[in-house]
Amino acid sequence: MKLHLKLLLIVFLLAGTRVQAQNKTPKLVVGIMVDQMRYDYLFRYYNQYGNDGFKKLLGQGFLAKNAHYNYVPTATGPGHASVYTGTTPANHGIIGNSWYVRAKKRSINCVEDSTVKTVGSASLEGSNSPQQLLATTIGDQLRLASNWRSKVVSVSVKNRGAILPAGRAGNAAYWFEYKTGNFITSNYYMDKLPGWVKKFNDQKLSDKFLAQDWKPLKPINQYRESANDDTPYERILTGKKKPTFPYEFSKLSKIYAKRGHQYRLVSGSPYGNTLVRSMGMAAIDNEKLGQGNETDMLALSFSSTDIAGHAYGPHSVEIEDIYLRLDREIAQLIKHLDKKVGKGNYVMFLTADHAVLNVPQYLKDNKIPGNYAPLGIYFSKLNEYLVKKYGVGKWVLSPGYQIFLNRKLIAERNISLEKMQADVARFLLQFEGIYKTYTANDLHRNNYTHGIAAIMQKGYNQKRSGDVFIALNPSWLPVGRVTKRSVRGTSHGSPYTYDTHVPVIFYGANIKKGTTVRKVTITDIAPTLAMMLNLQLPSAATGQPIHELFD
Ligand SMILES: [Zn+2]
Repeated sequence: MKLHLKLLLIVFLLAGTRVQAQNKTPKLVVGIMVDQMRYDYLFRYYNQYGNDGFKKLLGQGFLAKNAHYNYVPTATGPGHASVYTGTTPANHGIIGNSWYVRAKKRSINCVEDSTVKTVGSASLEGSNSPQQLLATTIGDQLRLASNWRSKVVSVSVKNRGAILPAGRAGNAAYWFEYKTGNFITSNYYMDKLPGWVKKFNDQKLSDKFLAQDWKPLKPINQYRESANDDTPYERILTGKKKPTFPYEFSKLSKIYAKRGHQYRLVSGSPYGNTLVRSMGMAAIDNEKLGQGNETDMLALSFSSTDIAGHAYGPHSVEIEDIYLRLDREIAQLIKHLDKKVGKGNYVMFLTADHAVLNVPQYLKDNKIPGNYAPLGIYFSKLNEYLVKKYGVGKWVLSPGYQIFLNRKLIAERNISLEKMQADVARFLLQFEGIYKTYTANDLHRNNYTHGIAAIMQKGYNQKRSGDVFIALNPSWLPVGRVTKRSVRGTSHGSPYTYDTHVPVIFYGANIKKGTTVRKVTITDIAPTLAMMLNLQLPSAATGQPIHELFD
C-alpha cells in the first residue's frame, strides 16, 4: 500500500512537470530582422532610446554581444535564409541576393519564380516564392510538428525579407509593392488576399506618408552621435540639392511619380518601418497569432534601415533618426503583444541580416583605413588578359565577388578549368585592394577551419557558386569605378566584422536576463529556438543552441 502511494505520488509529480513544461512553451515566436543593423547601434544611440523599445529588450532580455555572420556574402537574401534555417549558403543554397545560373544564361533573383503570380495586384512584383531555398526553416519545423496547425506569417518591405523567413511551408508572406505602396503576396501562398490585408491596403497609409514630410524627431543639434546633417558622404535624393532634412515628400513625390517611383520614398524612410510594424500588428489581430493552442510564428523584417543605410551611412543624422523611430515601433509592438498574446506567452528574437561598412571616404578622411576597389576596371583588364592568353572569347560570364567563367567555352577549347580558375585568381591578386582570391577548386577540395577561407567556404555551394572568389582589404568597398557618386553612401557583403557583427537578442517567455561575450553565430538562433520549442532541428541546421539560455 505504502509503495503504491509512493508510485502514485511519483506518477502525479511526473504528470505535473509534464503539464508545466507544456504550459511553458511559448504561444508565439516573433522574429525581428533589422536590415543592416550594426551591433553598435544598440549602444551608440542607447541614451536616446526610450524605456520600452531596445532598452527593454536589453534590460529584460538576453544579449549575445559577440554574434557574427560566419559566411560571405553578408547580404540580405543569404542573411534571412541563414537565420531561419540555422545554416549557411553552402547548405541552404541562397548564395546571394542574386546569382548567375549557367543553365539559364542569366542571373536570377534569390526569390524569383516565374511559375507563380502576384496576388493583390496586376503587376509582376509578386512573381516570387522560396523555391530556391533548399533547407527547412524554424517555421517549417513548427508547421510539421503541429500537423500544420501552427501558423507562420511573415511581413517585410523587401520580398526576400518576407519570403525566406517564412520558409517553404509558411502560411503567408507579404511584401511591399513599389508600384502601388500596398502589401502583396503570390499564389505560392494563396489565391486571394485575406479581407484584413485588403482592408489594411485600403487605408492607403503609403499615400498618407507621402503627404507628410520626413522631419527629424528632435532638434537637429541634438543628434550628437552623428556627423553634420550635410556631409559629402551621403547620397543626394533626386530633386534635392543637399542630403539634409527636411525630406519634403509632398514635393519630392511629384518628381518621383513621373517615373512611378514615389513609393520608394516611403521604403527608404522611417515610414517603411511603420508600415511593417502596423502590418505585423494587424496580422497578430486578424490571424489570431499566439492566441490558439499551437505555437505560431510572426516574422518581421524592417528593410528601410538598409535602404536608407546604403544612401546615408552609419554616421548620418538620417540613420540616427531612423533608429530612434524604430525604437518606438518596437515599443509599440511589444505593448501590442503584451496585450494580445500576453507577457510571458511569446518569445522574441531580434537580429540583423548583415551589418555595414562606414562610408570608406569618411574613414579615410579621419585617418582610418578605408578605400574603394574599382572592380569594373580590374575585370576589363582580366578580360584582356584572358583573350591574350586563351584566344578570343567571352571567358567571364558574370563578374563580381564570385566570378562565373564560361565553362562551356573552356571545355570546347580543351582548356583545364582548374588551370583557368587558378590563372584568374593569380591575375586578380596584383590589383590594389584585392587581398585574397580563392578558386572553386580550393573551396571544394580543402576543409578550412579558420579565417576568411573558412568564411568563404561556408558561403560556397558546389552546384550554384562561381569559379573564383575575391576578398578585398578590410574597409575597402567594391565599386565599378571611383566616381563622385561612388564615394557617397556605403555597402556590405564582406567577411569583416563591420559586416558580420550584429545584435542577437532574445526576449520574453522563459528568457533570463543576461549577456554572453562568447562568440556565437547567427546560425545558432534557429537551433536555440528549436530547443526552446521542443522541435526537430531545421533540416540542414549547423548552428548550436546558445547554451547560456538553458543553463
Ligand atoms: Zn539586408
